[in-house]
Amino acid sequence: MADGGDLPALVDELEHVTSELQAIETQIQDLLERQQELIQSKRVLKKKIQSLSEDAEAGTSAESSAENWRRQDFSWSRKVQEELKTSFHLDSFRNLQLETINATMAAKDVFLIMPTGGGKSLCYQLPAVCSTGFTLVICPLLSLMEDQLMVLERLGVSATSLNAASSKDHVKWVHGQMIDRDSRLKLIYVTPEKIAKSKLFMSRLEKAYQAGRLARLAIDEVHCCSQWGHDFRPDYKTLGILKRQFPNAPLIGLTATATSPVLKDAQKILCVQRPLTFTASFNRPNLFYEVRPKPSSSSDFIEDVVKLINDRYKGQSGIVYCFSQKDSEQVTMSLQKLGVRAGTYHANMEARDKSKVHTLWTENKIQVVVATVAFGMGIDKPDVRFVIHHTMSKSMENYYQESGRAGRDDQRADCILYSGFGDIFRISSMVVMENVGQQKLYEMVGYCQELRRCRRVLIAKHFDEVWDSAQCNQMCDNCSSHKDCEEADVGDYARDVVKILRHAEQMDEKLTPLKLLDAWSGKGVAKLRVTQILPPKLPRDQLERIITHLLLQHYIREDFSFTAYATISYLKEGPKASALRGPEHPIPLHMRRAGNNTTKIRFPRPSTSQKKTPGSSSESGDKRRLPSQNSPRTKKIRSSSPDPAIVID
Ligand code: ADP
Ligand code: MG
Ligand code: ZN
Repeated sequence: MADGGDLPALVDELEHVTSELQAIETQIQDLLERQQELIQSKRVLKKKIQSLSEDAEAGTSAESSAENWRRQDFSWSRKVQEELKTSFHLDSFRNLQLETINATMAAKDVFLIMPTGGGKSLCYQLPAVCSTGFTLVICPLLSLMEDQLMVLERLGVSATSLNAASSKDHVKWVHGQMIDRDSRLKLIYVTPEKIAKSKLFMSRLEKAYQAGRLARLAIDEVHCCSQWGHDFRPDYKTLGILKRQFPNAPLIGLTATATSPVLKDAQKILCVQRPLTFTASFNRPNLFYEVRPKPSSSSDFIEDVVKLINDRYKGQSGIVYCFSQKDSEQVTMSLQKLGVRAGTYHANMEARDKSKVHTLWTENKIQVVVATVAFGMGIDKPDVRFVIHHTMSKSMENYYQESGRAGRDDQRADCILYSGFGDIFRISSMVVMENVGQQKLYEMVGYCQELRRCRRVLIAKHFDEVWDSAQCNQMCDNCSSHKDCEEADVGDYARDVVKILRHAEQMDEKLTPLKLLDAWSGKGVAKLRVTQILPPKLPRDQLERIITHLLLQHYIREDFSFTAYATISYLKEGPKASALRGPEHPIPLHMRRAGNNTTKIRFPRPSTSQKKTPGSSSESGDKRRLPSQNSPRTKKIRSSSPDPAIVID
C-alpha cells in the first residue's frame, strides 16, 4: 500500500488521524452529556407547560400562581406575621411557606411538596393558631407526633394527641374541648387508624364541624395514601371520609416525596377537587457536597474522620451513615476508642436503647450518631453540622434524604461521602431483587465518579429540576476547587479488562471484582492472568475507577450468583464489549493526575488551550495538526467545561 511514500511520513500521518479520532470521541462524549442535560430540561419544561395549560383550562391560573399567594394584604396577613414572631419565634418565612399559609387561610385545598426539613409543619401550625377552632392533623407515626407536640409545648401552643395509649380522662377532656367555644386547644394529632376505626371520634368531629370548630384538616406525609408511594399505609385509604363529611373544612396535604402520579392518586383517595399544588425546590443552598475516595483500610478511614470531628467539627453534632449494623457498631467502637463521644443506632436495637441514643445526641451529650438508614424519620436536630457517609447510599433519593439531615437551621453544613469500590458490589448484591435497584445504584455510583460537574446539577436531575451550576455558589467540591484531572483514553485498558474476562469465561471461572483487579495487576491466581497483558502502572484506585467506568458504560456488567447465605456479584463482558473488537475505540474518562505521573494513559488533546502533561505520551502533540487549530469549521462550545471542547459545525 505504501506506494513508495516514505514510512515515517505515513506513520506520522497515522498518528495525526488517530489523534483526531480521539479528539472527536471526546467531543462526542461532551455532546452526549449535553444532550442528556437538554433532554432533562425539555422534560421539565414540557411538564411545566402541561400543568400551566391544565390550569388555564380549569380557569385557575391566577389562583394557582404562587405570586398571587405571596401577597401581604389579606385580612389575616397582619395576624399571621404577628404569630410567626410571637408564637413561633421566627423572623421570616422560608420559600413557599407564606404562599401555602395564605392559600389554606383562604380555605383552599392545598398540596405542599417540600423537601424534608423545609418547614412544612409551620404551614398548618401557624394557620391553626390564627384560626378559630382546632386543626385536625393526621400523622403516620406516634414518634413524629410526639416530636411536634414537644416543640409546640415549648412554644406554648396548645396541642395534643389521641392514641391507643391515651387515658379515658384525656379522651374525655379532648372530646369536650372539640366542641367548647372557649377552648384554646389549637391542634389535635391522630393516626389514620383513629379515623378508620373510632366511630366515637368521628361523631365528635361531626359535632365540632357543625359547631364551626373544625378549622382545617392537615394530612402529613400525604404520599402514604398511594400504593405508588414508598410508604403506603392502608389506613390512609380511608381518609376520603374526611372531605366527604366535612367538605367546607380546607385540607392541606404535605409530603417530601411525591411524583405526580402519587399526588394524583392521593388527591383521588382524599376526595379533593382541584387542589392548589405548591412545589418547593429541592436545592439546599447551605449544604456543601463532597465526595472523597474511601481509604482502603478501615483504620485510615477512622483516622480521617476523627481528624474531621476533632478539628473542623469540634464540639458540633453530626451523623455517620453506615451500610450495615455491623459496620455501624465497629465504626462506633473505633471512634470511641479515639475519644469521640459516639453512639450506635440501627434497627436491631431495643426501642429503649435507640431512643436513649437519640435523646443523648439531641441534648449534645454525644457528638456523633453512627447509624444505618434506620436513623431517619423524625430526626429533626437543627444544628447537625456534618453528615458523613461511610458507604454510599443505595440511590440518589436516599442520599439526598440522608445527607439532608444536615443544616436544618440553614447554617452551613457538610455532606461528605466516602466512595469505595467494594461498596458498589456490596450494595448491588443487596438491591438485586429490587425492581430498578441496580439502575438507581449506578446513578449513585455515577455521582461518586464525577470529578468535574457540579454536584447540585447531578442531584437536581433526580427531582426533575434544573439547577444551574451558578446557583451552587461554590458549595460543592467540584465547583469550589478545580480538581487536577485530565481526560484520558482508557480504551486500551478496556480491551485488556475484557480479554481477562473472556479468558476466565473460557475456563469457566467466575471473576469477582477483586479477582479481576488482581488478575489485571498481575497478582492472585496465576491461571486467571493473561500473559500478553502487562499490569498497568497505575495506582489501584485508578484501576478501580476505570473498572467502575466500564461498568457504568456497559462494557462490563455484573452477574449475580445466589447461595443460601449470600448473593455474590461477578463481573462479565457487557453488551458494549463487542465495540472494543475494532482497532480504534477510544473511551474517554477523566482521571486525577497522579503526582508522579508514570501512567501510560494517552491524554488526547482536543484543543490547543490544554496544558502540557508531563510524562504523558502525547507530549509530542504540540507538533500535531489538530482539528481545532486554525480551522474555520470549528468552534468552541460549553464554556462551563474547564477544557473548552471543540465541535465541528
Ligand atoms: P418538614 O416537615 O418539612 O420536614 P419541619 O416542619 O419539621 O420540616 O421543620 C424543620 C425545621 O425547620 C424545624 O426545626 C423548624 O423549626 C424549622 N423552620 C420551619 N420554618 C422555619 C422558618 N421560617 N425559619 C426558620 N426555621 C424554620
Ligand atoms: Mg414533617
Ligand atoms: Zn457545584
